[in-house]
Amino acid sequence: MTITRFAPSPTGRLHVGNIRTALHNWMMARQAGGTFILRIDDTDAERSREEFVDAIRTDLIWLGLDWDCEERQSARLGRYQAAFDALRAVGRIYPCYETAQELDVKRKIQLSRGLPPIYDRAGLKLTDAERAARETEGQAPHWRFLLDHAEPITWEDGIRGAQKFDPAQLSDPVIRRADGSWLYMMPSAVDDIDMGITQVLRGEDHVSNTAVQIQIFTALFAAAFNAAGSAAKRLPAFAHEALLVGREGKLSKRLGSLGCDAFRTSGVEPEAIIALLARLGTSQPVEPIADRAALVSSFDLTSFGRAPAKFDDEDLERLNAAIVHQLPFEAVAGRLPDGMDAAGWHAIRPNLAHVGEAEEWWRLVTGPIIQPGFTPDDKAFLAKAGSLLTWGQDPWGQLTGALKEATDRKGRALFLPLRQALTGMDHGPDMSELLPLIGELETRERLAQAAA
Ligand code: GLU
Repeated sequence: MTITRFAPSPTGRLHVGNIRTALHNWMMARQAGGTFILRIDDTDAERSREEFVDAIRTDLIWLGLDWDCEERQSARLGRYQAAFDALRAVGRIYPCYETAQELDVKRKIQLSRGLPPIYDRAGLKLTDAERAARETEGQAPHWRFLLDHAEPITWEDGIRGAQKFDPAQLSDPVIRRADGSWLYMMPSAVDDIDMGITQVLRGEDHVSNTAVQIQIFTALFAAAFNAAGSAAKRLPAFAHEALLVGREGKLSKRLGSLGCDAFRTSGVEPEAIIALLARLGTSQPVEPIADRAALVSSFDLTSFGRAPAKFDDEDLERLNAAIVHQLPFEAVAGRLPDGMDAAGWHAIRPNLAHVGEAEEWWRLVTGPIIQPGFTPDDKAFLAKAGSLLTWGQDPWGQLTGALKEATDRKGRALFLPLRQALTGMDHGPDMSELLPLIGELETRERLAQAAA
Protein backbone atom coordinates (compact mmCIF):
# COMPACT_ATOMS: atom_id res chain seq x y z
CA MET A 1 0.00 0.00 0.00
CA THR A 2 1.41 3.37 -1.03
CA ILE A 3 0.49 6.34 1.16
CA THR A 4 1.85 9.77 0.26
CA ARG A 5 1.19 13.20 1.62
CA PHE A 6 1.35 16.82 0.62
CA ALA A 7 2.01 18.94 3.69
CA PRO A 8 1.72 22.66 2.98
CA SER A 9 1.98 25.27 5.70
CA PRO A 10 -1.02 27.59 5.31
CA THR A 11 1.07 30.73 5.58
CA GLY A 12 0.63 31.74 1.94
CA ARG A 13 -0.67 30.64 -1.43
CA LEU A 14 0.72 27.65 -3.30
CA HIS A 15 3.37 28.48 -5.91
CA VAL A 16 4.80 26.30 -8.68
CA GLY A 17 7.30 24.71 -6.32
CA ASN A 18 4.69 23.34 -3.95
CA ILE A 19 2.25 22.57 -6.75
CA ARG A 20 4.96 20.36 -8.23
CA THR A 21 5.51 18.55 -4.93
CA ALA A 22 1.76 18.07 -4.52
CA LEU A 23 1.47 16.77 -8.07
CA HIS A 24 4.28 14.24 -7.75
CA ASN A 25 2.92 12.89 -4.48
CA TRP A 26 -0.53 12.67 -6.04
CA MET A 27 0.84 10.89 -9.13
CA MET A 28 2.80 8.42 -7.04
CA ALA A 29 -0.29 7.53 -5.01
CA ARG A 30 -2.60 7.33 -8.02
CA GLN A 31 -0.18 5.20 -10.02
CA ALA A 32 0.02 2.69 -7.16
CA GLY A 33 -3.70 2.80 -6.42
CA GLY A 34 -2.73 4.15 -2.99
CA THR A 35 -3.76 7.03 -0.77
CA PHE A 36 -2.91 10.70 -1.09
CA ILE A 37 -3.24 12.72 2.10
CA LEU A 38 -3.52 16.49 2.36
CA ARG A 39 -1.87 17.44 5.62
CA ILE A 40 -2.18 21.02 6.74
CA ASP A 41 0.97 21.94 8.69
CA ASP A 42 -0.60 24.61 10.86
CA THR A 43 1.28 24.39 14.15
CA ASP A 44 2.45 27.97 13.67
CA ALA A 45 -0.72 29.63 14.93
CA GLU A 46 0.60 33.12 14.33
CA ARG A 47 1.40 32.72 10.67
CA SER A 48 -1.22 30.14 9.67
CA ARG A 49 -4.46 31.52 8.22
CA GLU A 50 -7.75 29.82 7.50
CA GLU A 51 -8.04 31.76 4.24
CA PHE A 52 -4.84 30.07 3.04
CA VAL A 53 -6.20 26.64 4.00
CA ASP A 54 -9.24 27.41 1.83
CA ALA A 55 -7.06 28.71 -0.98
CA ILE A 56 -4.90 25.56 -0.89
CA ARG A 57 -8.00 23.39 -1.21
CA THR A 58 -9.41 25.56 -4.01
CA ASP A 59 -6.13 25.44 -5.91
CA LEU A 60 -5.75 21.67 -5.58
CA ILE A 61 -9.33 21.19 -6.77
CA TRP A 62 -8.74 23.51 -9.72
CA LEU A 63 -5.61 21.53 -10.58
CA GLY A 64 -7.57 18.29 -10.33
CA LEU A 65 -5.39 16.92 -7.52
CA ASP A 66 -7.97 15.17 -5.38
CA TRP A 67 -6.99 13.96 -1.94
CA ASP A 68 -8.34 10.95 -0.08
CA CYS A 69 -8.20 12.42 3.38
CA GLU A 70 -7.28 15.63 5.10
CA GLU A 71 -5.36 15.98 8.35
CA ARG A 72 -4.50 19.04 10.36
CA GLN A 73 -1.62 19.34 12.74
CA SER A 74 -3.53 21.74 14.97
CA ALA A 75 -5.99 18.91 15.68
CA ARG A 76 -3.22 16.51 16.71
CA LEU A 77 -1.46 18.37 19.50
CA GLY A 78 -2.20 15.55 21.96
CA ARG A 79 -0.16 13.14 19.84
CA TYR A 80 2.79 15.53 19.77
CA GLN A 81 2.62 15.83 23.54
CA ALA A 82 2.61 12.02 23.82
CA ALA A 83 5.65 11.76 21.53
CA PHE A 84 7.37 14.52 23.47
CA ASP A 85 6.74 12.71 26.77
CA ALA A 86 8.00 9.43 25.32
CA LEU A 87 11.21 11.01 24.04
CA ARG A 88 11.76 13.05 27.17
CA ALA A 89 11.38 9.94 29.32
CA VAL A 90 14.31 8.34 27.49
CA GLY A 91 16.46 11.46 27.62
CA ARG A 92 16.20 12.42 23.95
CA ILE A 93 14.69 15.83 24.64
CA TYR A 94 16.29 18.47 26.82
CA PRO A 95 15.42 21.98 27.93
CA CYS A 96 17.44 25.03 26.88
CA TYR A 97 17.25 28.58 28.15
CA GLU A 98 19.22 30.74 25.75
CA THR A 99 17.53 33.75 24.29
CA ALA A 100 17.54 34.29 20.53
CA GLN A 101 20.19 36.99 20.98
CA GLU A 102 22.43 34.70 23.02
CA LEU A 103 22.22 32.03 20.35
CA ASP A 104 23.00 34.60 17.72
CA VAL A 105 26.11 35.75 19.59
CA LYS A 106 27.27 32.12 19.95
CA ARG A 107 26.84 31.58 16.22
CA LYS A 108 28.76 34.72 15.36
CA ILE A 109 31.66 33.74 17.60
CA GLN A 110 31.81 30.27 16.04
CA LEU A 111 31.74 31.71 12.55
CA SER A 112 34.44 34.27 13.35
CA ARG A 113 36.65 31.38 14.48
CA GLY A 114 35.96 29.54 11.26
CA LEU A 115 33.81 26.95 13.03
CA PRO A 116 30.46 25.64 11.80
CA PRO A 117 27.59 27.25 13.76
CA ILE A 118 26.51 24.07 15.54
CA TYR A 119 24.67 24.36 18.85
CA ASP A 120 27.11 23.70 21.71
CA ARG A 121 24.63 21.73 23.87
CA ALA A 122 25.01 24.18 26.74
CA GLY A 123 21.45 23.33 27.80
CA LEU A 124 22.37 19.68 28.14
CA LYS A 125 25.25 20.48 30.41
CA LEU A 126 23.17 22.41 32.94
CA THR A 127 22.91 20.80 36.37
CA ASP A 128 19.55 20.22 38.02
CA ALA A 129 20.30 23.11 40.35
CA GLU A 130 21.09 25.47 37.45
CA ARG A 131 17.87 24.50 35.73
CA ALA A 132 15.89 24.98 38.89
CA ALA A 133 17.43 28.42 39.34
CA ARG A 134 16.32 29.48 35.87
CA GLU A 135 12.83 28.17 36.45
CA THR A 136 12.52 30.14 39.71
CA GLU A 137 13.67 33.22 37.80
CA GLY A 138 10.62 32.60 35.63
CA GLN A 139 12.54 31.51 32.50
CA ALA A 140 10.54 28.98 30.47
CA PRO A 141 12.71 26.57 28.45
CA HIS A 142 12.52 25.74 24.79
CA TRP A 143 13.27 22.12 23.91
CA ARG A 144 15.80 20.40 21.73
CA PHE A 145 15.98 16.88 20.38
CA LEU A 146 19.25 15.17 21.31
CA LEU A 147 20.89 13.79 18.19
CA ASP A 148 22.74 10.52 18.61
CA HIS A 149 26.31 11.10 17.41
CA ALA A 150 27.28 7.42 17.52
CA GLU A 151 26.75 6.57 13.87
CA PRO A 152 26.29 8.34 10.57
CA ILE A 153 22.71 8.79 9.39
CA THR A 154 22.22 7.08 6.06
CA TRP A 155 19.39 6.43 3.67
CA GLU A 156 18.88 5.50 0.06
CA ASP A 157 17.19 8.53 -1.45
CA GLY A 158 14.76 7.78 -4.27
CA ILE A 159 16.26 10.60 -6.34
CA ARG A 160 19.63 11.49 -4.81
CA GLY A 161 20.87 7.97 -4.21
CA ALA A 162 22.91 7.00 -1.13
CA GLN A 163 22.89 9.77 1.50
CA LYS A 164 25.13 10.06 4.51
CA PHE A 165 25.11 12.68 7.27
CA ASP A 166 27.41 13.01 10.26
CA PRO A 167 24.99 13.92 13.08
CA ALA A 168 27.81 15.72 14.91
CA GLN A 169 27.73 18.26 12.08
CA LEU A 170 24.09 19.10 12.81
CA SER A 171 22.63 21.17 15.65
CA ASP A 172 20.24 19.44 17.99
CA PRO A 173 17.02 20.85 16.54
CA VAL A 174 14.65 22.96 18.60
CA ILE A 175 11.39 21.07 18.44
CA ARG A 176 9.26 23.09 20.85
CA ARG A 177 9.15 26.79 21.69
CA ALA A 178 9.12 28.24 25.18
CA ASP A 179 5.40 29.00 24.83
CA GLY A 180 4.76 25.27 24.30
CA SER A 181 4.07 25.54 20.56
CA TRP A 182 5.63 23.07 18.11
CA LEU A 183 8.16 23.59 15.39
CA TYR A 184 7.94 21.60 12.18
CA MET A 185 10.50 18.87 12.88
CA MET A 186 8.90 16.44 15.33
CA PRO A 187 5.17 16.77 14.49
CA SER A 188 5.95 15.94 10.89
CA ALA A 189 7.69 12.69 11.91
CA VAL A 190 4.87 11.84 14.33
CA ASP A 191 2.31 12.38 11.55
CA ASP A 192 4.27 10.30 9.09
CA ILE A 193 4.26 7.46 11.63
CA ASP A 194 0.59 7.80 12.58
CA MET A 195 -0.63 8.15 9.01
CA GLY A 196 1.45 5.21 7.80
CA ILE A 197 3.20 7.34 5.16
CA THR A 198 5.19 5.02 2.93
CA GLN A 199 6.87 7.64 0.70
CA VAL A 200 8.03 11.10 1.63
CA LEU A 201 8.69 13.07 -1.53
CA ARG A 202 9.61 16.73 -1.05
CA GLY A 203 12.04 19.43 -2.08
CA GLU A 204 15.77 19.10 -1.54
CA ASP A 205 15.63 21.97 0.95
CA HIS A 206 14.43 19.24 3.33
CA VAL A 207 17.39 16.89 2.95
CA SER A 208 19.00 17.78 6.28
CA ASN A 209 15.57 17.69 7.96
CA THR A 210 15.29 14.12 6.76
CA ALA A 211 18.56 13.23 8.47
CA VAL A 212 17.20 14.62 11.75
CA GLN A 213 13.77 13.09 11.28
CA ILE A 214 15.26 9.64 10.67
CA GLN A 215 16.71 9.88 14.16
CA ILE A 216 13.37 11.11 15.53
CA PHE A 217 11.55 8.17 13.91
CA THR A 218 14.09 5.72 15.27
CA ALA A 219 14.01 7.24 18.76
CA LEU A 220 10.19 7.17 18.77
CA PHE A 221 10.12 3.52 17.72
CA ALA A 222 12.71 2.67 20.36
CA ALA A 223 10.52 4.44 22.93
CA ALA A 224 7.61 2.23 21.80
CA PHE A 225 5.80 5.19 20.26
CA ASN A 226 4.07 3.65 17.26
CA ALA A 227 1.08 4.53 15.19
CA ALA A 228 -2.02 4.06 17.33
CA GLY A 229 -2.85 0.35 17.34
CA SER A 230 0.20 -0.63 15.29
CA ALA A 231 3.54 -2.12 16.15
CA ALA A 232 5.07 -1.24 12.78
CA LYS A 233 8.52 0.32 12.95
CA ARG A 234 8.97 1.17 9.34
CA LEU A 235 10.56 4.34 8.07
CA PRO A 236 9.04 5.85 4.97
CA ALA A 237 11.14 5.87 1.80
CA PHE A 238 12.53 9.35 1.22
CA ALA A 239 13.10 11.21 -2.02
CA HIS A 240 14.08 14.84 -2.51
CA GLU A 241 13.54 16.64 -5.75
CA ALA A 242 15.87 19.27 -7.12
CA LEU A 243 14.64 22.81 -6.75
CA LEU A 244 12.83 24.70 -9.47
CA VAL A 245 14.57 27.74 -10.86
CA GLY A 246 13.57 30.26 -13.50
CA ARG A 247 15.31 30.82 -16.80
CA GLU A 248 17.61 33.43 -15.31
CA GLY A 249 18.14 31.64 -12.03
CA LYS A 250 15.21 32.94 -10.03
CA LEU A 251 11.62 31.95 -10.59
CA SER A 252 9.98 34.65 -12.66
CA LYS A 253 7.75 37.23 -11.07
CA ARG A 254 5.04 36.73 -13.62
CA LEU A 255 4.03 33.14 -13.07
CA GLY A 256 6.74 31.22 -11.33
CA SER A 257 6.50 32.89 -7.98
CA LEU A 258 2.76 33.42 -8.23
CA GLY A 259 0.05 30.94 -7.56
CA CYS A 260 -2.92 29.39 -9.29
CA ASP A 261 -4.78 32.71 -9.35
CA ALA A 262 -2.13 34.10 -11.66
CA PHE A 263 -2.38 31.04 -13.89
CA ARG A 264 -6.15 31.28 -13.95
CA THR A 265 -6.27 34.97 -14.79
CA SER A 266 -3.63 34.66 -17.48
CA GLY A 267 -5.60 31.84 -19.07
CA VAL A 268 -3.25 28.97 -18.33
CA GLU A 269 -5.11 25.67 -18.22
CA PRO A 270 -4.54 23.37 -15.24
CA GLU A 271 -3.68 20.60 -17.70
CA ALA A 272 -0.80 22.68 -19.06
CA ILE A 273 0.65 23.26 -15.59
CA ILE A 274 0.23 19.58 -14.80
CA ALA A 275 1.83 18.43 -18.05
CA LEU A 276 4.79 20.74 -17.50
CA LEU A 277 5.39 20.10 -13.81
CA ALA A 278 4.86 16.36 -14.13
CA ARG A 279 8.01 15.96 -16.19
CA LEU A 280 10.08 19.08 -15.67
CA GLY A 281 13.47 18.06 -14.29
CA THR A 282 13.02 14.44 -15.33
CA SER A 283 14.55 12.62 -18.28
CA GLN A 284 11.07 12.19 -19.77
CA PRO A 285 10.09 14.69 -22.46
CA VAL A 286 7.72 17.50 -21.52
CA GLU A 287 4.80 17.02 -23.89
CA PRO A 288 1.33 18.52 -24.20
CA ILE A 289 -0.35 15.52 -22.61
CA ALA A 290 -3.89 16.43 -21.64
CA ASP A 291 -4.68 12.86 -20.60
CA ARG A 292 -4.06 12.65 -16.86
CA ALA A 293 -4.07 8.87 -16.81
CA ALA A 294 -1.25 8.78 -19.36
CA LEU A 295 0.84 11.11 -17.24
CA VAL A 296 0.14 9.12 -14.10
CA SER A 297 1.12 5.82 -15.66
CA SER A 298 4.38 7.31 -16.94
CA PHE A 299 5.42 8.62 -13.51
CA ASP A 300 8.85 7.28 -12.67
CA LEU A 301 10.93 8.51 -9.75
CA THR A 302 14.09 7.07 -11.28
CA SER A 303 13.75 9.52 -14.19
CA PHE A 304 14.12 12.53 -11.84
CA GLY A 305 17.39 14.42 -12.22
CA ARG A 306 19.50 16.07 -9.54
CA ALA A 307 20.11 19.31 -11.41
CA PRO A 308 17.80 22.24 -10.66
CA ALA A 309 14.82 22.13 -12.99
CA LYS A 310 14.19 25.24 -15.10
CA PHE A 311 10.68 26.60 -15.05
CA ASP A 312 10.03 28.86 -17.99
CA ASP A 313 6.85 30.89 -18.57
CA GLU A 314 7.32 30.57 -22.31
CA ASP A 315 7.43 26.77 -22.15
CA LEU A 316 4.22 26.93 -20.17
CA GLU A 317 2.58 29.20 -22.76
CA ARG A 318 3.59 26.90 -25.61
CA LEU A 319 2.34 23.87 -23.78
CA ASN A 320 -0.85 25.70 -22.93
CA ALA A 321 -1.61 26.46 -26.57
CA ALA A 322 -0.95 22.84 -27.55
CA ILE A 323 -3.24 21.65 -24.76
CA VAL A 324 -6.01 24.12 -25.71
CA HIS A 325 -5.91 22.73 -29.25
CA GLN A 326 -6.81 19.32 -27.82
CA LEU A 327 -9.48 20.29 -25.32
CA PRO A 328 -12.89 18.80 -26.09
CA PHE A 329 -15.93 21.08 -26.25
CA GLU A 330 -17.33 19.65 -23.00
CA ALA A 331 -14.21 20.73 -21.11
CA VAL A 332 -14.62 24.38 -22.09
CA ALA A 333 -18.34 24.80 -22.86
CA GLY A 334 -18.98 26.97 -19.80
CA ARG A 335 -16.26 29.41 -20.79
CA LEU A 336 -17.23 29.98 -24.42
CA PRO A 337 -19.19 32.90 -25.88
CA ASP A 338 -22.96 32.52 -26.20
CA GLY A 339 -24.03 30.48 -29.17
CA MET A 340 -20.66 28.87 -29.77
CA ASP A 341 -21.30 25.16 -30.19
CA ALA A 342 -19.06 22.12 -30.59
CA ALA A 343 -18.55 22.81 -34.31
CA GLY A 344 -17.61 26.42 -33.52
CA TRP A 345 -15.14 25.32 -30.86
CA HIS A 346 -13.65 22.78 -33.20
CA ALA A 347 -13.17 25.35 -35.97
CA ILE A 348 -11.66 27.97 -33.72
CA ARG A 349 -9.56 26.13 -31.16
CA PRO A 350 -6.48 25.65 -33.41
CA ASN A 351 -6.07 29.45 -33.41
CA LEU A 352 -6.10 29.92 -29.66
CA ALA A 353 -3.29 30.31 -27.20
CA HIS A 354 -5.88 30.73 -24.44
CA VAL A 355 -9.51 29.65 -24.22
CA GLY A 356 -10.48 33.25 -23.43
CA GLU A 357 -9.55 34.29 -26.98
CA ALA A 358 -12.45 32.25 -28.35
CA GLU A 359 -14.66 35.29 -27.93
CA GLU A 360 -12.61 37.41 -30.36
CA TRP A 361 -12.49 34.69 -32.98
CA TRP A 362 -16.18 33.90 -32.61
CA ARG A 363 -16.89 37.42 -33.88
CA LEU A 364 -15.72 36.25 -37.30
CA VAL A 365 -18.84 34.11 -37.30
CA THR A 366 -21.35 36.43 -35.64
CA GLY A 367 -19.99 39.63 -37.18
CA PRO A 368 -19.79 42.44 -37.74
CA ILE A 369 -16.51 42.11 -39.57
CA ILE A 370 -14.41 44.87 -41.11
CA GLN A 371 -13.36 44.12 -44.65
CA PRO A 372 -10.27 45.68 -46.21
CA GLY A 373 -10.54 47.73 -49.42
CA PHE A 374 -10.38 45.53 -52.56
CA THR A 375 -8.91 46.27 -55.97
CA PRO A 376 -11.35 46.35 -58.92
CA ASP A 377 -9.88 43.04 -60.00
CA ASP A 378 -10.57 41.44 -56.61
CA LYS A 379 -14.04 42.96 -56.58
CA ALA A 380 -14.85 41.30 -59.87
CA PHE A 381 -13.46 38.04 -58.56
CA LEU A 382 -15.57 38.29 -55.40
CA ALA A 383 -18.68 39.10 -57.43
CA LYS A 384 -18.02 35.95 -59.40
CA ALA A 385 -17.65 34.06 -56.14
CA GLY A 386 -21.09 35.27 -55.08
CA SER A 387 -22.62 34.04 -58.30
CA LEU A 388 -20.91 30.63 -58.12
CA LEU A 389 -21.74 29.96 -54.48
CA THR A 390 -23.91 26.91 -53.87
CA TRP A 391 -24.83 25.67 -50.44
CA GLY A 392 -24.38 21.93 -50.10
CA GLN A 393 -22.34 19.56 -47.97
CA ASP A 394 -19.08 21.48 -48.36
CA PRO A 395 -19.77 25.02 -49.54
CA TRP A 396 -16.12 26.14 -49.24
CA GLY A 397 -14.80 23.19 -51.24
CA GLN A 398 -17.48 23.70 -53.88
CA LEU A 399 -16.88 27.46 -54.10
CA THR A 400 -13.12 27.30 -54.41
CA GLY A 401 -13.37 24.39 -56.86
CA ALA A 402 -15.80 26.32 -59.04
CA LEU A 403 -13.64 29.47 -58.89
CA LYS A 404 -10.55 27.54 -59.94
CA GLU A 405 -12.36 26.39 -63.03
CA ALA A 406 -14.04 29.67 -63.82
CA THR A 407 -11.03 31.98 -63.26
CA ASP A 408 -7.28 31.77 -63.78
CA ARG A 409 -6.65 32.26 -60.07
CA LYS A 410 -5.10 29.70 -57.78
CA GLY A 411 -3.25 29.57 -54.47
CA ARG A 412 -3.01 32.79 -52.49
CA ALA A 413 -4.61 34.92 -55.21
CA LEU A 414 -7.67 32.71 -55.00
CA PHE A 415 -7.92 32.14 -51.25
CA LEU A 416 -6.80 35.42 -49.69
CA PRO A 417 -9.48 37.78 -51.10
CA LEU A 418 -12.12 35.20 -50.18
CA ARG A 419 -10.84 34.92 -46.64
CA GLN A 420 -10.60 38.70 -46.35
CA ALA A 421 -14.10 39.19 -47.67
CA LEU A 422 -15.59 36.52 -45.45
CA THR A 423 -13.69 37.17 -42.21
CA GLY A 424 -11.98 40.54 -42.56
CA MET A 425 -8.68 38.82 -41.79
CA ASP A 426 -5.64 37.45 -43.60
CA HIS A 427 -5.41 34.32 -41.54
CA GLY A 428 -7.55 32.34 -39.16
CA PRO A 429 -9.61 29.20 -38.82
CA ASP A 430 -10.05 26.63 -41.54
CA MET A 431 -12.54 28.22 -43.95
CA SER A 432 -14.25 24.93 -44.71
CA GLU A 433 -15.18 24.66 -41.03
CA LEU A 434 -15.99 28.32 -40.70
CA LEU A 435 -18.30 28.78 -43.67
CA PRO A 436 -21.09 26.48 -42.44
CA LEU A 437 -20.98 28.39 -39.14
CA ILE A 438 -21.27 31.77 -40.89
CA GLY A 439 -24.24 30.41 -42.87
CA GLU A 440 -25.42 30.90 -46.44
CA LEU A 441 -27.22 34.20 -46.05
CA GLU A 442 -24.39 35.94 -44.25
CA THR A 443 -21.81 34.46 -46.64
CA ARG A 444 -23.71 35.88 -49.62
CA GLU A 445 -24.03 39.24 -47.92
CA ARG A 446 -20.31 39.48 -47.12
CA LEU A 447 -19.33 38.56 -50.67
CA ALA A 448 -21.78 41.10 -52.08
CA GLN A 449 -20.52 43.81 -49.75
CA ALA A 450 -16.91 43.12 -50.70
CA ALA A 451 -17.75 43.19 -54.40
CA ALA A 452 -19.69 46.45 -54.18
N1 GLU B 1 5.16 22.09 5.89
C1 GLU B 1 6.40 21.66 5.33
C2 GLU B 1 6.75 22.52 4.15
O1 GLU B 1 5.84 23.10 3.58
C3 GLU B 1 6.30 20.22 4.95
C4 GLU B 1 7.57 19.56 4.57
C5 GLU B 1 7.38 18.06 4.44
O2 GLU B 1 6.94 17.64 3.37
O3 GLU B 1 7.60 17.35 5.40
O4 GLU B 1 7.89 22.68 3.81
